[in-house]
Order: sequence, then structure tokens, then C-alpha cells
Amino acid sequence: MSVTQQQVLDRLAKIKSPRGVALTNANVLSAISASDGKVFFSINVDAAEARAWETVRAEAEAAVRAIPGVTTAMVALTAERKAGSAPPPPPQPSRGTPGVPPVHAHKPPPQGGAQSPMARQSEIPGIAAVIAVASGKGGVGKSTTALNLALGLRDLGLKVGLLDADIYGPSVPRLTGLHEKPELDGERKMIPLRRFGLAIMSIGFLVEEETAMIWRGPMVMSAVTQMLRDVAWGTLDVLVVDMPPGTGDAQLTLAQNVPLKGAVIVSTPQDLSLIDARRGLAMFKKVNVPVLGIVENMSYFQCPHCGTKSDIFGHGGARHEAEKLGVPFLGEIPLHMAIRATSDAGNPVVDSEPDGPHAAIYRAIAGQVRDQLKGVIAAARS
Ligand code: ADP
Repeated sequence: MSVTQQQVLDRLAKIKSPRGVALTNANVLSAISASDGKVFFSINVDAAEARAWETVRAEAEAAVRAIPGVTTAMVALTAERKAGSAPPPPPQPSRGTPGVPPVHAHKPPPQGGAQSPMARQSEIPGIAAVIAVASGKGGVGKSTTALNLALGLRDLGLKVGLLDADIYGPSVPRLTGLHEKPELDGERKMIPLRRFGLAIMSIGFLVEEETAMIWRGPMVMSAVTQMLRDVAWGTLDVLVVDMPPGTGDAQLTLAQNVPLKGAVIVSTPQDLSLIDARRGLAMFKKVNVPVLGIVENMSYFQCPHCGTKSDIFGHGGARHEAEKLGVPFLGEIPLHMAIRATSDAGNPVVDSEPDGPHAAIYRAIAGQVRDQLKGVIAAARS
């Protein structure tokens, strides 16, 4: 049974907004995406009013979920701060009401105040360390690295999750071969999909790729926050977040609002991408997130036939850059057909060729990341 936008609007018309009028007349709704039983839309309000709208968001989501034929409903509350208005109230320190996500302003709050960004972010219960895998631009192998790094951490005996927050082009469904829709548990939290021993969640499991592409910054933030907090992650040592590529406003807000313990930056050796990586470093510095290190991907070309290495992109740039910037250099991953073919077939190389040379490289990178997070993981376990 397919669900129509009109059915959704009919349900929403029965919900009262804090402005006293029906939700559908409050001039706050985005376009409604309803396809294949999956419904997504956002409620866009001024940050000053955001608190009052949280219950409306939850009510709207529950009402849509109750429509026969709806399998997934995701309602994002986005709060945009109007110029000159007061900053929004900070998110609640802990998750009080299941199903009600914290609200975030579009513009990141000013930096350098008495309160550090880390203090504003509430930890996610059960998760010892959330880390980001980021890149200055798309196509450098960020997602491939994020998944293989997660698998490397798994191989070191850690409990690992992967959150694909690359909202503009979620590639985790392709890289893992997972396309099912997550089910809800008794508390109406989404149960992450499991593959390769990892707990995996991607916006690509919930909405069509094209829908995600047109989201504005605040919607991205809200959707990612929900995927972090409205998912039953269970107990994890590390949750690897595959960030959207780039260093724009959306990425900065994300880096600031996700309780990150560190970030890994992926770069190719080409100059341009190194410049982008430097922007990534600056971004994480701005929000006080420690950079765990730089990974040079597609570092050199290794001939699949004779094994000869050629530095087609001028290999070594990222190592040099990391030294100059005083951040750890985590390792070099060759440009190799096996990495590409396994990734694109949903069988990441660390899992499908665990004894091969590439798995060893990813595991060595994972080892360095694990060493830097050791204290945090031990503290969470104690
Ligand atoms: P991003 O997340 O940065 O956009 P992806 O991880 O999706 O990049 O990778 C882009 C393409 O490059 C994919 O087809 C992937 O299989 C391929 N790729 C990534 N890393 C390597 C590598 N080291 N060797 C060969 N192909 C790679």
C-alpha cells in the first residue's frame, strides 16, 4: 500500500502547533517526501521557539508512523536562528524523553566562550568514543577508509559501530551490501543493521539518495542527531562516523554537535586535496576536537600483476603535511584494484581478504587510533 502526501497532511492537520493553529497552517512544514512507505519531512522553526516544538515533532512522527503502510517515518525539527535573536537554549544534558531529539541551531554558537563545545554535547549512553572520518572533498576514499577502519578496530577486539552521516551521498549501503530498512525496538528506537560484526546505520537505509541530496544544512544536522540518539546502538567501544565531505557550515555544525572524541582525516596525495585536508584540520581545531591523524589514501599505485609501486600522484605529501602540522600520520593506503573491487561489491577488503596486505595496513591504522582512544575506552568500561 503506498502512502500519499495527502494522507500525511490529513494526519498533520489534526495536530495543534504551539502557535494555536493546526500544524499544517503554521507555515513551518518542508516539502513532504513519501515514497515506498518511507515518509520524511522537517518542521522548520525559529530557534527561540524550538523547545516548544519538540513535543509537536514527536507527535507528528508518531501520527505519521500510525498511517497504515508507513514503514519509516522521520520528522526532523530544524531551528534556524534569525539575525539578532537570542541564541537557542542548549540541548538537554541527557536524553530525558525517548523520541525527542535535541534541537540545534543552524549557525554554530560563537566559539571561545567559557563553555567548551565538548561540554555542550551530551554523551551517547553506551558508546565510549565517537570518532569522525572526514575529508576536505568527495571522492578521496573517505567512506572506504571509514568502513575498513571500523573493521580494523573490530579485528582488535573492540565493539564497533558505523554511522554513515554522509547525507549528500550515503555510500555505506553500497559498501556493505545492506539495503534493508531498520526495524524499531520496544522503545521505538531504530535497531541498527548488523554486518561483519558491526552495528551499521545509514541515512541511505531510510530515504532515497535524491531526497538526502536536497536537504539544507539544518535538516542534515537534525537527521544526523536523530541517527545518533534515536538508534539503539547498544554498548560500543567506538562509533565511527563517516562525515559528509567538505568543510562547510553543515560539516562544522556536525563536528560541533556530535560528541566527538577525535577525527581522522583522509586525503589523497594531490596538492589540492591536501589543501582541503588542511581546512579539515582547521575545522576540527575550531571545535576543539582532537585530530587523531591523517591517512593518505590512493597513496601509490601498486600494479596488481607485478606488485611494482609507482607514485603516480607524488606520494608522501600527506606524511610531510602531517609532520608540518604536528598531527600523527596514520598510514598510506595504495590505490589498488582489490580495494576498489571489494568495496564496490559490498565486501570490504579487511573482511574479505583478512590475511592480505591491505587488511594489514588498515589494521595498523586502526591500532594507532585505538591507542589514542585507550584511556577513553577504559574509562567507559570501568
Ligand atoms: P568518498 O567517501 O571520499 O567519496 P569512496 O570511499 O566512496 O570515497 O571512494 C570513491 C571510489 O574510490 C570508490 O569507487 C572506491 O571503491 C574507490 N577507492 C577508495 N579507496 C581506494 C583505494 N585505496 N584503491 C582503489 N580504489 C579506491
